[in-house]
Amino acid sequence: MMISDKMAARLNEQIKNEFYSYWLYLSMAFSLETMNLRVFGEWFHIQANEEQEHAMKFAKYLIDQGADVKLQALPEPKTKFASVQEICQGAVDHELQITKNINDLMDLARAEKDHATEAFLHWFVGEQVEEVASVKELLEMVKLAQTAGQILMLEGRVYQLVQGRKK
Ligand code: MG
Repeated sequence: MMISDKMAARLNEQIKNEFYSYWLYLSMAFSLETMNLRVFGEWFHIQANEEQEHAMKFAKYLIDQGADVKLQALPEPKTKFASVQEICQGAVDHELQITKNINDLMDLARAEKDHATEAFLHWFVGEQVEEVASVKELLEMVKLAQTAGQILMLEGRVYQLVQGRKK
Protein backbone atom coordinates (compact mmCIF):
# COMPACT_ATOMS: atom_id res chain seq x y z
CA MET A 1 0.00 0.00 0.00
CA MET A 2 1.41 3.38 -1.06
CA ILE A 3 -0.59 5.58 1.32
CA SER A 4 -0.68 5.50 5.14
CA ASP A 5 -3.25 3.45 7.08
CA LYS A 6 -4.59 6.71 8.49
CA MET A 7 -5.02 8.22 5.03
CA ALA A 8 -6.72 5.05 3.73
CA ALA A 9 -9.15 5.17 6.67
CA ARG A 10 -9.91 8.85 6.07
CA LEU A 11 -10.45 8.31 2.34
CA ASN A 12 -12.81 5.45 3.14
CA GLU A 13 -14.64 7.82 5.47
CA GLN A 14 -14.97 10.26 2.58
CA ILE A 15 -16.49 7.53 0.39
CA LYS A 16 -19.16 7.25 3.08
CA ASN A 17 -19.65 11.04 3.06
CA GLU A 18 -20.05 11.09 -0.73
CA PHE A 19 -22.52 8.20 -0.71
CA TYR A 20 -24.40 9.93 2.09
CA SER A 21 -24.55 13.04 -0.15
CA TYR A 22 -26.02 10.83 -2.88
CA TRP A 23 -28.57 9.47 -0.42
CA LEU A 24 -29.47 12.94 0.92
CA TYR A 25 -29.94 14.51 -2.53
CA LEU A 26 -32.01 11.54 -3.65
CA SER A 27 -34.24 12.09 -0.60
CA MET A 28 -34.49 15.79 -1.49
CA ALA A 29 -35.32 14.92 -5.12
CA PHE A 30 -38.15 12.60 -4.03
CA SER A 31 -39.55 15.27 -1.68
CA LEU A 32 -39.52 17.84 -4.49
CA GLU A 33 -41.31 15.40 -6.79
CA THR A 34 -43.89 14.91 -4.04
CA MET A 35 -44.35 18.72 -4.00
CA ASN A 36 -44.96 18.50 -7.80
CA LEU A 37 -41.72 20.41 -8.42
CA ARG A 38 -40.51 17.92 -11.02
CA VAL A 39 -37.79 20.10 -12.52
CA PHE A 40 -36.31 20.97 -9.13
CA GLY A 41 -36.46 17.23 -8.49
CA GLU A 42 -34.52 16.52 -11.67
CA TRP A 43 -31.85 19.03 -10.61
CA PHE A 44 -31.40 17.08 -7.37
CA HIS A 45 -31.31 13.74 -9.21
CA ILE A 46 -28.43 15.08 -11.34
CA GLN A 47 -26.74 16.36 -8.18
CA ALA A 48 -27.19 12.95 -6.52
CA ASN A 49 -25.65 11.15 -9.51
CA GLU A 50 -22.60 13.42 -9.34
CA GLU A 51 -22.12 12.47 -5.68
CA GLN A 52 -22.11 8.80 -6.63
CA GLU A 53 -19.39 9.59 -9.20
CA HIS A 54 -17.39 11.35 -6.46
CA ALA A 55 -17.59 8.25 -4.26
CA MET A 56 -16.40 6.14 -7.22
CA LYS A 57 -13.40 8.43 -7.79
CA PHE A 58 -12.31 7.94 -4.15
CA ALA A 59 -12.80 4.17 -4.44
CA LYS A 60 -10.74 3.97 -7.64
CA TYR A 61 -7.98 6.04 -6.03
CA LEU A 62 -7.80 3.69 -3.02
CA ILE A 63 -7.60 0.67 -5.32
CA ASP A 64 -4.92 2.33 -7.47
CA GLN A 65 -2.90 2.92 -4.28
CA GLY A 66 -3.22 -0.73 -3.21
CA ALA A 67 -5.62 0.05 -0.34
CA ASP A 68 -8.87 -1.71 0.51
CA VAL A 69 -12.23 -0.05 -0.12
CA LYS A 70 -14.44 -0.49 2.96
CA LEU A 71 -18.03 0.52 2.42
CA GLN A 72 -19.73 1.68 5.60
CA ALA A 73 -23.33 1.93 6.77
CA LEU A 74 -24.96 5.24 5.87
CA PRO A 75 -27.01 7.33 8.30
CA GLU A 76 -30.66 7.74 7.31
CA PRO A 77 -31.11 11.01 5.43
CA LYS A 78 -33.84 13.45 6.36
CA THR A 79 -37.03 12.62 4.43
CA LYS A 80 -39.51 15.29 5.56
CA PHE A 81 -38.95 18.85 4.41
CA ALA A 82 -41.28 21.77 5.02
CA SER A 83 -40.41 23.72 1.87
CA VAL A 84 -38.21 23.94 -1.19
CA GLN A 85 -36.25 26.66 0.60
CA GLU A 86 -35.52 24.30 3.51
CA ILE A 87 -34.24 21.74 0.98
CA CYS A 88 -31.99 24.25 -0.78
CA GLN A 89 -30.66 25.59 2.53
CA GLY A 90 -29.97 22.01 3.61
CA ALA A 91 -28.04 21.42 0.38
CA VAL A 92 -25.92 24.56 0.92
CA ASP A 93 -25.16 23.57 4.52
CA HIS A 94 -24.26 20.06 3.40
CA GLU A 95 -21.90 21.22 0.64
CA LEU A 96 -20.12 23.55 3.09
CA GLN A 97 -19.59 20.53 5.36
CA ILE A 98 -18.24 18.47 2.43
CA THR A 99 -15.88 21.33 1.55
CA LYS A 100 -14.57 21.17 5.12
CA ASN A 101 -14.09 17.39 4.78
CA ILE A 102 -12.06 17.87 1.59
CA ASN A 103 -9.95 20.63 3.16
CA ASP A 104 -9.25 18.43 6.20
CA LEU A 105 -8.13 15.62 3.87
CA MET A 106 -5.86 18.06 2.05
CA ASP A 107 -4.35 19.17 5.40
CA LEU A 108 -3.60 15.53 6.23
CA ALA A 109 -2.04 14.86 2.81
CA ARG A 110 0.22 17.87 3.29
CA ALA A 111 1.14 16.89 6.86
CA GLU A 112 2.07 13.41 5.64
CA LYS A 113 3.94 14.78 2.59
CA ASP A 114 1.65 12.50 0.57
CA HIS A 115 2.04 14.23 -2.80
CA ALA A 116 -0.06 11.71 -4.74
CA THR A 117 -3.10 12.16 -2.51
CA GLU A 118 -2.63 15.92 -2.55
CA ALA A 119 -2.65 15.89 -6.37
CA PHE A 120 -5.72 13.62 -6.37
CA LEU A 121 -7.56 15.96 -3.98
CA HIS A 122 -6.92 19.06 -6.09
CA TRP A 123 -9.80 18.13 -8.40
CA PHE A 124 -12.15 17.95 -5.41
CA VAL A 125 -11.04 21.35 -4.09
CA GLY A 126 -12.08 22.91 -7.40
CA GLU A 127 -15.23 20.80 -7.62
CA GLN A 128 -16.37 22.02 -4.18
CA VAL A 129 -16.16 25.65 -5.31
CA GLU A 130 -18.58 24.75 -8.13
CA GLU A 131 -20.83 22.65 -5.90
CA VAL A 132 -21.25 25.39 -3.29
CA ALA A 133 -21.81 28.04 -5.98
CA SER A 134 -24.51 26.02 -7.75
CA VAL A 135 -26.51 25.15 -4.62
CA LYS A 136 -26.23 28.75 -3.42
CA GLU A 137 -27.55 29.98 -6.79
CA LEU A 138 -30.57 27.70 -6.40
CA LEU A 139 -31.18 28.85 -2.81
CA GLU A 140 -30.96 32.54 -3.74
CA MET A 141 -33.48 32.06 -6.57
CA VAL A 142 -35.88 30.28 -4.23
CA LYS A 143 -35.54 33.06 -1.65
CA LEU A 144 -36.67 35.57 -4.30
CA ALA A 145 -39.92 33.67 -4.83
CA GLN A 146 -42.54 34.83 -2.35
CA THR A 147 -45.42 32.56 -3.28
CA ALA A 148 -46.03 28.97 -4.37
CA GLY A 149 -46.95 30.33 -7.82
CA GLN A 150 -43.58 32.07 -8.10
CA ILE A 151 -41.80 28.87 -7.06
CA LEU A 152 -43.65 27.04 -9.84
CA MET A 153 -42.59 29.71 -12.33
CA LEU A 154 -38.99 29.24 -11.22
CA GLU A 155 -39.13 25.72 -12.62
CA GLY A 156 -38.61 27.28 -16.06
CA ARG A 157 -35.28 28.74 -14.92
CA VAL A 158 -34.28 25.53 -13.16
CA TYR A 159 -35.09 23.66 -16.39
CA GLN A 160 -32.41 25.71 -18.13
CA LEU A 161 -29.94 24.86 -15.34
CA VAL A 162 -30.82 21.17 -15.68
CA GLN A 163 -30.19 21.27 -19.45
CA GLY A 164 -26.83 22.93 -18.79
CA ARG A 165 -25.83 20.16 -16.37
CA LYS A 166 -26.76 17.25 -18.62
CA LYS A 167 -23.64 15.78 -20.18
MG1 MG B 1 -19.41 15.38 -3.58
